[in-house]
Amino acid sequence: MQLLVKRLTRVILVLFFLILPGYRALADFDLSVYQQTPASASVIPEEILYPKFFRESDSLSLQNIITEIRSRIDFVKGLRHEPSYFNCYKMQRRISKGLERMLAAEKQLPFNFVDDHLIYDPQSPLFDYLRPMPLKSTDFCSFRSYGDLTGSGSTIYCVYHGADMRGEFFRRYQGEASRLRPLMTAFDIVELLIFLPALLFIPAIWLILKKALEKKQPSDNVSQG
Ligand SMILES: [Zn+2]
Repeated sequence: MQLLVKRLTRVILVLFFLILPGYRALADFDLSVYQQTPASASVIPEEILYPKFFRESDSLSLQNIITEIRSRIDFVKGLRHEPSYFNCYKMQRRISKGLERMLAAEKQLPFNFVDDHLIYDPQSPLFDYLRPMPLKSTDFCSFRSYGDLTGSGSTIYCVYHGADMRGEFFRRYQGEASRLRPLMTAFDIVELLIFLPALLFIPAIWLILKKALEKKQPSDNVSQG
């Protein structure tokens, strides 16, 4: 009998220490910070609509122009490099899907906004809903949400790549986003470099044809007369 009690006590103790870390983990994650309604800005922050990645790649630097030319040469060769923002937007969609899963399972989100800590901390209540886990495309990537996630009109974005350009939120503010972009970007310069000779070539051909037709005209008149 004494042996049985001893064994039972041991089993209970083992179970207790197995369960305890799980409880501690849940209790350790402080959600109170995330349960405050984020302040709504009257203007959508630039880092969402025209983020650092595009500000850097649009600027008219020699390096950017060379990169643009190289990417066109690679395109002709059949090599297609997926830009880092493509992958980042894919990861943002993973986070949105995770939030949808959590909402479906728990009827309401227990927080109003997310950041990297809430996404990547294994003790976070959102962690288990994120599958596959969203990865960062670059070292500069950092995920956030804008607006109140428990309401409408919010979005997930990356501080380096901004919000998904094909997403509903970005399309709603597309006008504002294009106003933030400069008139001439490295992309536009390279397009001009490619198409300007072609544009000059067309009037030259037209002039040559015109001259040729003018020369032909008198002889036609003579044969008619
Ligand atoms: Zn990113």
